[in-house]
Amino acid sequence: MLEPNPIINQILDHPLLEEKGVELSIKRLDWVHELVPGNKFFKLKYNLEKAIRENKNTLLTFGGAYSNHIHAVANAAHSLGINAIGIIRGEETFPLNPTLSDAKSKGMHLHYISRSLYREKTDDSFIQELHDLFGDFYLIPEGGTNLEAIKGTQEILKEEDQEFSYISLSIGTGGTFAGILQASQNHQKILGFSSLKGDFIKKEMEALIKTFSINPKGQFQIFTDYHFGGYAKYDQSLVEFIWWFFETFGIVLDPIYTGKMLFGIWDLIKKDYFPKGSKILAIHTGGIQGNKGFTFQTGIKLPSL
Ligand SMILES: *Cc1c(COP(=O)(O)O)cnc(C)c1O
Repeated sequence: MLEPNPIINQILDHPLLEEKGVELSIKRLDWVHELVPGNKFFKLKYNLEKAIRENKNTLLTFGGAYSNHIHAVANAAHSLGINAIGIIRGEETFPLNPTLSDAKSKGMHLHYISRSLYREKTDDSFIQELHDLFGDFYLIPEGGTNLEAIKGTQEILKEEDQEFSYISLSIGTGGTFAGILQASQNHQKILGFSSLKGDFIKKEMEALIKTFSINPKGQFQIFTDYHFGGYAKYDQSLVEFIWWFFETFGIVLDPIYTGKMLFGIWDLIKKDYFPKGSKILAIHTGGIQGNKGFTFQTGIKLPSL
C-alpha cells in the first residue's frame, strides 16, 4: 500500500495573528505523499485496499481535465502496479494539459466523453456500457467520495488536534468535510469553504451526513461566499493572495481549493470572526499539481514546488 509521510501542523507567525490574539496552524497534508498528496491520499486509501482485496487490476474513475482526483488515481495505480482508466469530461485537446499529460505518462488510459454523457456518470446503464468496453474494474466515483473515502478522511485528524477550537477546510464534493465532521470533538467548530458557487452545497452536505450516518459532535458552518465567481474562477486578488502567502509563510496554495479557503480564513480573522484565544487549524488539502495547469490555461504564474 501507499505509505504516508508524517504530517505536521505548521504554526504561522504574523503580526495580524498577534494583534487579534488568535493562533493559526496549517495541517500539511500536501506533504503526506509525494505522488498522491493532500486529501486524495485519505480518500483513496481504503478504496485502494478494497480494490486489491477484491483482486481488481483496474481502477476506473471520472474527472475534469484538471482534476486532482484523476491525477491522484493515475499516480496511485501506477505506484501499486495496477491499471487506471480516467473518464474525462469534454473533448480531447492538444497539447495535453499538465494534469492529463502526467496521468497519461503514468499509464492511465484517458477516455473522453461529452459533457452531456458525463452527466450520466452515476447511471447503472452507463456504468454497464463502460464494463462492456473495459471489462472488470473497481469504480471510484467522481471526486472519490464514497464510504471508503469518508472512512479514510476521518484519519486526517489526530488526537493532538483536539487542542484546536476551529478546523477549516475547502469543500468540493464534501467527502472530506464529512470525514472531518465525524472525527471532530464537541468543543470544535468545523468551517467549510465551498469551492463552488451557490447554496446547494449546504443541502448536499445534509444529504451526505444522512447517507453516511455522520454524527457531528461539534458545530459546523459552511461559507459560500469565497468561491471568487465559481469553481475554478479567480480574480487578481486571489492570485495576489496566493503569492503573498507563499512569500510570507513559504507555503504553496492552489487557486481552486486551498487558496480560496485560506483567503477566507484570513478575511475572517481580519473581520474578528474568531474570538481572542481561538486556535485555528486550517487543513492544506493539497492540489498543487493544478498550479501548472492553471498557468497552462491562463498564462498567470503561480508559486509551485
Ligand atoms: C478534491 C479536493 C478538495 C475537495 O475535497 P472533497 O472531499 O471533494 O470535498 C479540496 N481540496 C483539494 C486540494 C482537493 O484536491
